[in-house]
Amino acid sequence: METTVASERSRLRRHPERAVDAEAAAFLDAGSVAHVGFVVDGQPYVVPFSYQYASAEPDRLYLHGSLDSRALAHLASGAPVCVTVTLEDALVYSRTAMYHSMNYRSVVAFGRARAVDSADDKQAVFLAMVERYFPGRTAGRDYEAAPRQHLDATALIEVRLEEVSAKRRTGGPLGPHDADPAAPGTCGLVPLHP
Ligand SMILES: Cc1cc2nc3c(=O)[nH]c(=O)nc-3n(C[C@H](O)[C@H](O)[C@H](O)COP(=O)(O)OP(=O)(O)OC[C@H]3O[C@@H](n4cnc5c(N)ncnc54)[C@H](O)[C@@H]3O)c2cc1C
Repeated sequence: METTVASERSRLRRHPERAVDAEAAAFLDAGSVAHVGFVVDGQPYVVPFSYQYASAEPDRLYLHGSLDSRALAHLASGAPVCVTVTLEDALVYSRTAMYHSMNYRSVVAFGRARAVDSADDKQAVFLAMVERYFPGRTAGRDYEAAPRQHLDATALIEVRLEEVSAKRRTGGPLGPHDADPAAPGTCGLVPLHP
């Protein structure tokens, strides 16, 4: 991702060999739920949201919701934000307790948010968001695009991603006896996608 600027806060310390920053855009493209972290008066909050992301605009991620949303109102003020997206790929079980694990793809992004007020810009993001979650659904054929009244009633927040890291675990269990089929116990993978 062009926007990635590695700094100490986004440097992977545990399993740095699993860093795959170049794949951050692909992971954000594939994700469904963004966990959005921010601090209000010293209290950290992490709130789940659906989101819009397009790798053609890799440094932007969009959140939307009610104008009454406290989270979105706070973000609209230009607050610093941390967004995490996780794709769970498989459960990993080992012959040794400590080596039970998961295969995953994940992104942690730091940025700043702002409100998007233009009705045209909101419409473009919402049309693209429906297409991302429901590929092939077409406004005017499968559903009615948001009228002005709905656009005005919906808050849209643009998060400018300033620093992004991506991490992936793949493969089987790595316990000391997992490569030995004669060892006691069982090990393997439970895929979480068909
Ligand atoms: C998968 C998923 C996708 C979602 N997508 C969207 C979206 O696109 N837009 C949107 O506006 N909302 C979405 N939500 C709901 C969102 O998480 C908030 O609940 C919502 O924004 C309401 O915020 P609020 O301003 O009322 O609450 P806030 O004032 O932000 O939160 C007040 C308190 O309510 C509690 N709380 C808030 N949300 C949750 C929650 N989800 N689960 C448990 N406790 C909670 C927390 O204690 C929080 O401190 C989604 C939720 C999920 C699980």
